[in-house]
Amino acid sequence: MQEPDMIDHRRLGRELDLFVSDPLAGAGLPIWLPAGAAARHAVEEYVRELERRSGHQHVYSPPLGKRELFELSGHLGYFADDMFPPMRLSADDEFVLRPALCPHHALVFRARGRSYRELPLRIAELGGMYRSERSGVLGGLSRVRAISLNDAHTFCAPQQVGAEVAEILGLIRVAHAALGVRPAGFRLSLRGPGEKYVGDDAQWARAEDLLRAALAGMAYVEAPGEAAFYGPKIDIQIVDAAGRESTISTIQLDFDKPERFDLSYTGADGSRHRPVMLHRSLVGSMERLFAYLIEVHEGAFPAWYAPVQLVLLPVDDGQADAAADLARRAADAGLRVEVDAAGSLGARIRDAARRRVPYLGVLGAREAADGRLALRLRGGRALDPMPAEAALALIGGQVAARATDLLPSD
Ligand SMILES: [Zn+2]
Repeated sequence: MQEPDMIDHRRLGRELDLFVSDPLAGAGLPIWLPAGAAARHAVEEYVRELERRSGHQHVYSPPLGKRELFELSGHLGYFADDMFPPMRLSADDEFVLRPALCPHHALVFRARGRSYRELPLRIAELGGMYRSERSGVLGGLSRVRAISLNDAHTFCAPQQVGAEVAEILGLIRVAHAALGVRPAGFRLSLRGPGEKYVGDDAQWARAEDLLRAALAGMAYVEAPGEAAFYGPKIDIQIVDAAGRESTISTIQLDFDKPERFDLSYTGADGSRHRPVMLHRSLVGSMERLFAYLIEVHEGAFPAWYAPVQLVLLPVDDGQADAAADLARRAADAGLRVEVDAAGSLGARIRDAARRRVPYLGVLGAREAADGRLALRLRGGRALDPMPAEAALALIGGQVAARATDLLPSD
């Protein structure tokens, strides 16, 4: 284990050109550079596919909305300290940068009549939201003011909550394994003393019982005072390189918003019923997720979300055409590939190692002549030259499998 400041994601983010924090843009408003954006794009696509395959439907909704929407949701009443002040366009037209996606997703549910046959209805979005964090607590990607949240809301019947929570816990496990997230523990976040919670005691007790039942047999700690203002939640915690704990994944139970938005569906009995709303995030915000992933992998991401997966190194000018041709084939196969032809071979290998590129393909005169490629793995291991198609298939196979290792395990 290196010194914590050696694996600070802010330092690695600079060295690897992943993101930049420019004071002119504002504190807590980092900009994702091409390498960071490529990695994030791969992760977003993966999460979207995982959600789609598990019955989620994706929507797009705007990151701001009318003041009345957030009065109705309870955010302006219970959460205003964490929000940017409303923007006033005219006396009766004020807009709010949203602090959460749930109000918009409640409107998705309400967009037309709903039947019990549609439940559980899973509405997902990777969407923008804003928190007015004090500038003193901001740093890199771990605390930001503009948040890109992997979010979803399940609307279901009360008797479907247990199965839905179990399903979500399974998805979280799958996503953590692919990304290389190592959870530090599970937390049941409960209501604390004070006035900052909506709903009555019976609602809270019922919600806590449901989450406790979902966690039966698992190790977890209880954390009074850590609940959302509208309900208790299961939080999955991580610890960063400096030893700070935070939440990466969450499942929250909410009886309040369906009341506030007067959500209902038609049951099998033909009458109106109130759904339960589950808020859940599999991997949290892209910002906090990457702050963590950069540190836990020390910048050496699994190949499937590495910004550049393969760098081709022609030994000299004689292999330039062969390298360009192979790069085209690799790109056609869906890989993120570059050709690096400038400077000594040793310097280029060192540069690719500094950038944590998972695969290097060295092309000498003999490899170019007989269509072969000598692969070197991140970490220095060199494989025997193999047909170029086989090398691309090997890399493509590891990427498609979202493997965390660079070689197949068999
Ligand atoms: Zn929500």
